[in-house]
Amino acid sequence: MLNKKSVDDINVKGKRVLVRCDFNVPLIDGKITDENRLVAALPTIKKLVADGGKIILCSHLGKPKGEPKPELSLAPVAVRLSELLGQEVKFAADATVVGENAKAAVDAMNEGDVILLENTRYRAEETKNGEEFSKELASLCDVFVNDAFGTAHRAHCSNVGVTQFVDTAVVGYLMQKEIDFLGNAVNNPERPFVAILGGAKVSSKISVIENLLDKVDTLIIGGGMAYTFSKARGGKIGLSLCEDDYMEYALNMLKKAEEKGVKLLLPVDHRIGDDFSNDANVQIVNSGEIPEGWEGMDIGPKTEVLFADAVKDAKTVVWNGPMGCFEMPKFANGTEAVAKALAETDAVTIIGGGDSAAAVNQLGYGDKMTHISTGGGASLEFLEGKELPGVAAANDK
Ligand code: AMP
Repeated sequence: MLNKKSVDDINVKGKRVLVRCDFNVPLIDGKITDENRLVAALPTIKKLVADGGKIILCSHLGKPKGEPKPELSLAPVAVRLSELLGQEVKFAADATVVGENAKAAVDAMNEGDVILLENTRYRAEETKNGEEFSKELASLCDVFVNDAFGTAHRAHCSNVGVTQFVDTAVVGYLMQKEIDFLGNAVNNPERPFVAILGGAKVSSKISVIENLLDKVDTLIIGGGMAYTFSKARGGKIGLSLCEDDYMEYALNMLKKAEEKGVKLLLPVDHRIGDDFSNDANVQIVNSGEIPEGWEGMDIGPKTEVLFADAVKDAKTVVWNGPMGCFEMPKFANGTEAVAKALAETDAVTIIGGGDSAAAVNQLGYGDKMTHISTGGGASLEFLEGKELPGVAAANDK
């Protein structure tokens, strides 16, 4: 059980509080095209402002690769954040992130003031977790708050290194929610617990499958991954995605699931195409019966019902990875059906970041889910059962 100190467990009145946020927003010509991440950061910032802290925000944006890139400056974020917060967010425009502007701004702060530092990845040490930059960041603050889940699987200066030089390091509300659901609910689930895995390759989900096999009552495998299982069991898969090197592994997983009493569900039918494109001709065939020259692009209608039935009576469901090539409208049905089934079940529903989170939001089911993770890579590593450096660095309760 992960039990980390949060912003609710500390008193920040009059203290300088460095908050690592995830302001990695899409920018086109200096305009923020999706401000969800800014909105999501507000509860933690507002709480710290209300408690009388002096709030110093920091984040990375894009990949400036260790040098100042004007197009990746966080300046536009300070402007929009000021509007969203209803108070000035002063921008400290230092190419070195912790420079004269930042130091002077922090010295001049009153309780409840908010400033934003420049893109932490302007510094080459950031992604190497270098000591010097970590110390510089720590020198600005008395307390550190990490609210950036998207980078929690990486050990960088602004989320891990800095905590070595600050006495108090806690998590913000966004991080707390990720820990509650992807960490604790998955490890100590209300049963029946169903996991749905999809996406392209078995090889990239091996650790997730192994970790979840020890925890779930039912494991559902869809997406491109399923064809390696189908071929391993002697099925015909035509041109479908397959990792021959992992067929043995797939058979072992099936055996392991049986030994552990885990129900492992694979697709029973598929939507197949004669071309890897949305212009392909489409047929529906049973699993293991894909003709030469055709490839499996999505789960079929019988499988949609099978998978939806499996989540109906579940108490906890976690989903990571699309059921087919959902970027092509002709092959999005399976992913949509799973999203709908999750929206309709009474279970606690936890959506891993990345494609499944995007699909759920695009379909308008976002508010029907218990938790949609904000981190793709980080949520996958959580599901692999790994310790995330950004989470581990926070003080225990
Ligand atoms: P991943 O990053 O491993 O979660 O994989 C996501 C990608 O898997 C998406 O871009 C999907 O288009 C792709 N995908 C899902 N099903 C299939 C399939 N049957 N054949 C090829 N690619 C697929």
